[in-house]
Amino acid sequence: MRNNKKFKILAIGAHPDDMEFEAGGTLAKWALKGHEVYHLILTTGGYRDMTGRIHKTETLRKEAQNAAQVLNIKELIFLDYTTTELPNSGKVVSEVDKIVQDICPDVIISHHPFDSHQDHRAAADIVFAVSRQGRVKNVLSCAPFPYRPNVFAFRPQLFVDISSTINIKLEAIRCYKSQFEKFGGEKLIGRIQSWAHVWGWAVECEFAESFEVIRVTDVF
Ligand SMILES: [Zn+2]
Repeated sequence: MRNNKKFKILAIGAHPDDMEFEAGGTLAKWALKGHEVYHLILTTGGYRDMTGRIHKTETLRKEAQNAAQVLNIKELIFLDYTTTELPNSGKVVSEVDKIVQDICPDVIISHHPFDSHQDHRAAADIVFAVSRQGRVKNVLSCAPFPYRPNVFAFRPQLFVDISSTINIKLEAIRCYKSQFEKFGGEKLIGRIQSWAHVWGWAVECEFAESFEVIRVTDVF
């Protein structure tokens, strides 16, 4: 984004911490440049994880609010669908469509359609549905985590240098204490940093995030 026009960016995550993991450095960078960044979280319904631990809606919402402050998000929106059961239905498409209508984002960022988590795939399908008819000019899919089995379906096409915001991204992820600890805590943080370092290798910068382009216009 080289010119001085201010853009609206809408990040749509299936779960509260997803967009911080997959695009947090980019969202923080664009917010710092003065663009308006909105974050829509589709599921904040409390859930029981694989270890049997219960995660409450209030905790997830509070952590998301803290992370939004760190990233300088203009508005955080919750739809409160049930975790692991996000439907790709006409109802949720209509709800997201209304939000897109209200915000009129220049860019939507969401999950990759071949992600192995069913909620992430549903979110990608919902985004494709609300991006019909050219209303949303720029649509980007995030890279799925490298440990997910279908990572090779992702084609890295757009790279964003996040060297100046990698620490903000990691700080935002740390806001989700109840979430990131179950995936390895600081070990996970180290892996996220290394992942960004590898993407940075592709474009000769220290840290980067990578996206697959679904559609872009010449604003970039
Ligand atoms: Zn997720």
